[in-house]
Amino acid sequence: MSMQKVLELMRPFWGERNVIGSYVGGEFIDGHGSPIEVRNAHDDSVLLTFPDADDSLIAHTDAVAKVAQAHWWALTAQARGRAMYQVGAQIREHAESLAQIESFTANKPIRDARVEVAKVAEMFEYYAGWADKLHGEVIPVPTSHLNYVTYEPLGSVLQITPWNAPIFTCGWQIAPAIAAGNAVILKPSELTALSSLVVGVLIERAGVPKGLVNIIAGFGHTIGQGFIAKADIRKVVFVGSPATGRHIAVAAAQRCIPAVLELGGKSANIVFDDADLDIALRGAQAAIFSGAGQSCVSGSRLLVQQSIFDKFTQALAQAARNFKVGDPSDPETQIGPINNAKQYHHVKTMIEGALNDGAKLLGAEADPIPSTPGYYINPTVLTGTNELYCAQEEIFGPVVVAIPFKDEADAIRIANDSRFGLAGGVWTRDVGRAHRVASQVRAGTFWINGYKTIHVSSPFGGYGDSGYGRSSGLDALREYSEVKSVWVETAAKPAASFGYGASLE
Ligand code: NAD
Repeated sequence: MSMQKVLELMRPFWGERNVIGSYVGGEFIDGHGSPIEVRNAHDDSVLLTFPDADDSLIAHTDAVAKVAQAHWWALTAQARGRAMYQVGAQIREHAESLAQIESFTANKPIRDARVEVAKVAEMFEYYAGWADKLHGEVIPVPTSHLNYVTYEPLGSVLQITPWNAPIFTCGWQIAPAIAAGNAVILKPSELTALSSLVVGVLIERAGVPKGLVNIIAGFGHTIGQGFIAKADIRKVVFVGSPATGRHIAVAAAQRCIPAVLELGGKSANIVFDDADLDIALRGAQAAIFSGAGQSCVSGSRLLVQQSIFDKFTQALAQAARNFKVGDPSDPETQIGPINNAKQYHHVKTMIEGALNDGAKLLGAEADPIPSTPGYYINPTVLTGTNELYCAQEEIFGPVVVAIPFKDEADAIRIANDSRFGLAGGVWTRDVGRAHRVASQVRAGTFWINGYKTIHVSSPFGGYGDSGYGRSSGLDALREYSEVKSVWVETAAKPAASFGYGASLE
């Protein structure tokens, strides 16, 4: 797809503009920083360049966000819910354009992009329903007081999101934040800012005040850090790599600003020999190859019981060769390219390193790295041990490391031998075993006889180096709220406390 086509797709949302800028207070504002180059992952051509946002934007964004947040919180909860429901309607109305833009910038197969856009509409609809149900609680305290708890907005929150699922992550974080009454400053990945900018425009068209949701187009180490250091924000919610997450948490801590970190994973997908192996085989493919493996919850460690290891992994390698890998705009494509050059080189280096370390490539006749100009990696099945670097570190590509295990205890030990704890799965017909394994694997999300299903209504987050805090469901609303406890004396003659018994009479 050419740059010209992208400008056509963007025209209904930003008119005659021809360069990416930030969307703040209801208008696009050009950056003045160093150029950011975005390349087309299909053929490595330069697709677009735009200037990084600069620090002069910070004070302006702070000011418009503050005014909008006060306006938003002054509305009735029902009015906020109605406006949020309209955001869902706007996204549905423009779903095909959004899917095309997303497919193009995130280099995602168009069929996957369509599914993700529909989920974003659902996120706004789901949290629209919560807007007037975020009520407080009354606590039965053992004194003569009425004690009640209210949930209040934080104010402005900063959200920093990655390139692998840009529009999904944008809706996932914005919807609960505004349902809880906050203003949002969202900085998407500089590689994939377009779909988030369009969501920002549609949110306003739905009737949400200008400036409540602001989208910043720029690098993380410049403008992202600038907002953490200088903006009047009350929380930083970060979705991205563990290394950047650490950096962000330190910068936020220096200002005493709390953070939520949604980081990477190295999730164990465990297959016992009593499982329905045909279904497990399909599940193992979806777990690692969908999204070209660029998914935080990927089942990137496949733990298979020794008795079926060879048969199962050979069948997986055979299935891997049948995927249609290619141009993301082709409706038949199942696996698109890796999103960007840096990530492509990382995946290549990880495969080469794994083979040097002694991992074995199954189905070696299919070269994992095709000699095409784009950033393509074929679905790849390696076998090895859990101690290998490729089994301990995130590859974030269509590469699975299959590891044999002896019995249940061995499977749990291997699954937990990881610094990450984002997700995991088990395939077995033994109900008791399924629940035992689910309870003992340290992970924020776990599937029994399934993989990768998530929904906005259910909490999501990591253990260990996969981060802290929760997104989705009621938990996300709590993350985006301050909690206030109010004590009301109800006794006609309250007991004097702290020994102060003086009276006016
Ligand atoms: P990344 O950490 O490189 O970048 C993420 C975001 O951080 C981008 O917007 C980037 O501009 C910004 N950033 C980079 N350096 C920064 C800095 N110094 N200060 C402030 N911001 C900075 O991650 P990525 O490569 O874009 O995404 C892939 C990673 O995201 C993987 O590790 C994946 O597992 C993780 N991820 C996690 C989840 C989850 O929910 N747990 C979801 C999706 C992706």
